Amino acid sequence: MLKESNTYKYFQKFINIITFRDIPLQKKFLLFSVGSLFWLMVVAGIGLTFMFYMDSSSKKMVDVNVPHSKTVNLVYSNVREVCVAVHKIIVSEDKALAEKNHERAISRLRESKDYLDTLLTGGKITYATRISENNTIDFLVQPVRNSEQRKIIENLKKNIDLLSSNVNEIWDLKTKNKSINNLKEKLAEYDILVLQTERNLMNLLNIMDKEWNDFSEYMSLRIKMAILLMSLILIIVIILYFIFGSLISKALKKPILEIINQIKALSTGEIDLTKKIEVSSKDELGELSREFNKLMETISHVAQFKKIAEEDDTLQDVYNRLGKIFVDELGLRDVIIYEVSNSKKNMKIVYPPELEGTEANCSMDIQLDSDLCRAKRTGHEVSSLDYPEICKFFIESDKHSHICVPMMISGNVGGVVQFVCGKNVSCDMDFKNKISRAKQYIREIQPVIETKRLTNTLKESAIRDALTGLYNRRFLEESYESIVAGIQRRGKNLGLLMCDLDFFKNINDVYGHDVGDIVLKETASVIRKNVRASDFVVRFGGEEFLVILVDIRDEEAFNVAEKIREKVEETKIKITGGVIQKTISIGVSEFPKDAQNFWQSIKYADVALYKAKERGRNRVIRFTPDMWEEEKY
Ligand code: GH3
Ligand code: MG
Ligand code: MG
Repeated sequence: MLKESNTYKYFQKFINIITFRDIPLQKKFLLFSVGSLFWLMVVAGIGLTFMFYMDSSSKKMVDVNVPHSKTVNLVYSNVREVCVAVHKIIVSEDKALAEKNHERAISRLRESKDYLDTLLTGGKITYATRISENNTIDFLVQPVRNSEQRKIIENLKKNIDLLSSNVNEIWDLKTKNKSINNLKEKLAEYDILVLQTERNLMNLLNIMDKEWNDFSEYMSLRIKMAILLMSLILIIVIILYFIFGSLISKALKKPILEIINQIKALSTGEIDLTKKIEVSSKDELGELSREFNKLMETISHVAQFKKIAEEDDTLQDVYNRLGKIFVDELGLRDVIIYEVSNSKKNMKIVYPPELEGTEANCSMDIQLDSDLCRAKRTGHEVSSLDYPEICKFFIESDKHSHICVPMMISGNVGGVVQFVCGKNVSCDMDFKNKISRAKQYIREIQPVIETKRLTNTLKESAIRDALTGLYNRRFLEESYESIVAGIQRRGKNLGLLMCDLDFFKNINDVYGHDVGDIVLKETASVIRKNVRASDFVVRFGGEEFLVILVDIRDEEAFNVAEKIREKVEETKIKITGGVIQKTISIGVSEFPKDAQNFWQSIKYADVALYKAKERGRNRVIRFTPDMWEEEKY
């Protein structure tokens, strides 16, 4: 139920898309790699962005905030130095020393004011180290942008100005030896001013520190966020990898396992040839499965074909079945199957049956002498597609092409299948592919044909006389019923000729048994040649032959018998050292004209033969009822 629902179908479709089910293997891995690279770049991108941001932000802070604080600190230390200098002026008795301190104080204040100006405008600050006056250090200052800070700096500048005038006033009071009270008053005023300046400076420093602290806090928050974001993406990516990896590998594993199982089953022979691999993806695995299924189908079809052919009644049925497969199943329209005779001397067309005895694509000569057929002679495939005009007995080699495949029967070439292209089918790659499939069928059918031909031979040998090749008495006993049935059905007569060589014993006595055998063979051949193919010639006894003429016209049997007698008389039989001529006596009867019983009719022919011998031999005698009464058998 679930499997058929629409939701399931859409889900399956979705899974197929995200696992790249229908995409070729190479692209599948490429896409997977691109996906991986994408996520790697996302993580790296986030990390790098934060690092660049942090770098530029901290650079800004270091380049701006640090010189500012440093400058303020310099001003602060200058103010402290001025304080020391002022107190030295007051306590000093030495005028020169006092003067030196006054100058130092004034210069430090001027310096401080310059520093403050630089803070407002920006520029270079140069200051002497404490180690020596000549040893100076400088650094760059960016103008202060914060308005609150700028206001404090402006105030500080005013403070410095006031401090300068205060120092000068103190210096005046000191040098002009004014009252100590005035000096004290000024000093008190000066101390307050210093305190105020220092407080302002501290205030400015605090603000700057706070700015630095805020920045540090902000930066650490950002770093934490970046780490969190990167970890989160990494976790998602790992989960995605796991899901995708397992889905894709599963999608790959399933069909491969199925194919392996089918191949295993094939090798152990446990396979159900009709069972298909259920892999429908459009990638290489799907194609592999489809091709495998096709192969299994062919194997199963060929196996089935063989089984059915085995059950066919006659060899001709098998040839027809094979021919039909080529024509109907494979679409090879011009096919001829030749059967090579047991004597291997000649061959005949057995498929299509209507072409038997005619000259088809090849000269009639090959049918009369099978060794003229290249495929028969060599036992190898003969293809005019590969080697044009390879076989000179192929008639229309300028128009059409042929591939002749020998059929191996009992280790010899027992037949040849000829496929022609250029007539009704074109000589393309498809034709060649079809030929290789056709060869599969030929390979499978060979043992069937072999068995059928062997059975036929066995059957033949049981009903034929070995010396003359004529039917034996056993054949007559087995087949007379069907011969009689045919005659009765058609309302016709059989002519029965009982033939016996005259004085045959003499031959044996004079020339020996071997010559006797030759005479028997020759006589058999003469009789055979002088009756129709549908008539039966039976070796009835030692030198007695029974000829059964089928569907004979009224009293025609006598004439046939007379013809045989004449031919035997004329025949010169070659033996070592000369020729022999023999005569034959023949008794004629007809069935059912003379007797309703078949065997009785034969007996009548025998009686007539006896009469022929009696009346001087070398003659034909037609049976008449009086002969029977006369003899009283
Ligand atoms: P006729 O029929 O004219 O009266 O005289 P005949 O000499 O032919 O007499 P008969 O029919 O009695 O002789 C048959 C002989 O045929 C006897 C046998 O030796 C010989 N014969 C039978 N079968 C064979 C065979 O297979 N080979 C040979 N060489 N001789 C055979
Ligand atoms: Mg005899
Ligand atoms: Mg005889």
